[in-house]
Amino acid sequence: MPLEILTIPCLSDNYAFLAHDAKSGETALVDAPEAAPILAALKSRRWTLSHVLLTHHHWDHVDALDDILAAHPAKVIGAAQDAARLPKLDLAVNEGDSFKIGDEAVGVLDVSGHTVGHIAFHIPTSAAVFTADSLMALGCGRLFEGTPDQMWESLSKLAALPEDTVVYSGHEYTQANGRFAETIEPGNADLQARIADIARARANGESTVPSSLSLELATNPFLRPQSPEIRDRLGMQDAPDVEVFAEVRRRKDNF
Ligand code: FE
Ligand code: ZN
Repeated sequence: MPLEILTIPCLSDNYAFLAHDAKSGETALVDAPEAAPILAALKSRRWTLSHVLLTHHHWDHVDALDDILAAHPAKVIGAAQDAARLPKLDLAVNEGDSFKIGDEAVGVLDVSGHTVGHIAFHIPTSAAVFTADSLMALGCGRLFEGTPDQMWESLSKLAALPEDTVVYSGHEYTQANGRFAETIEPGNADLQARIADIARARANGESTVPSSLSLELATNPFLRPQSPEIRDRLGMQDAPDVEVFAEVRRRKDNF
C-alpha cells in the first residue's frame, strides 16, 4: 500500500511533508521548517511521528526539529556527509542506503549542489521523491556550495527516476520560476500551459507542489539542456548538456 502523503505549507514559502503508512501506523516527517502547522496536521490525523527525514542543513529545513521531537520522539535521519552541520542524527545515511517506513523502502540519493551533502529520499513503491532544494517545481536550488557539475549530476539522477514519480520539493517558488523559464524556452507549449495552470492555482491559494517528474521533464528549463530552442537561444548548439545547464543556472542567478 503506498504511503499517504500530506503537503504542509510552513513559514512564508516552505513545505514539509508527512508520509504515513496505514498498516504499521508509522509516519515520517520530511524536513522541519515550522512546528505549529506540522504538529497541527499530526494532531488532526491522530498520527504519531516515527521518523524525521532531513534533506539538508539550512535553517528553514531543520529549525523546528527540537519542538517537534519534544511532542513526538522520533528517529532522525540525515546525511552522514553533512552530520557535522545537521542536528543530532539517529541514523546517518549515504547514497544507496535504504531504510523502511512500514513496509516501504526509502532510498537515499546524494543530490548535492544547493549544499554539499543535500540528499533526496525516493520511495519507489509510493512513486514519491522528496527533493527539497535540489530539483524544484519548474526550478532547481541555487548553487550555494556545489558546482554546476555536481548539480547537473544530481538532477540527472532524479530525471532518470520513473516518469510517474511525484516530486515533493521544498518551496513555493513556482510562479517566479515560471517567469524565468519563459525567457529561456518561450516556444515550449507545455511550459506555457503550465504557467497558466500555476497562475490559476496561485490565484486560488493552492500549492503548486508536488509536481510530477514527467511535467518537470517537459517544462523545467534546468532539465532541458538538450532542447534545440534553448540551445539556439543561448547560442550553445554544440555544448555539452552540463554547460547548457550551467548557463541556464547563471542566467537565473542574474534574473
Ligand atoms: Fe536550502
Ligand atoms: Zn530551502
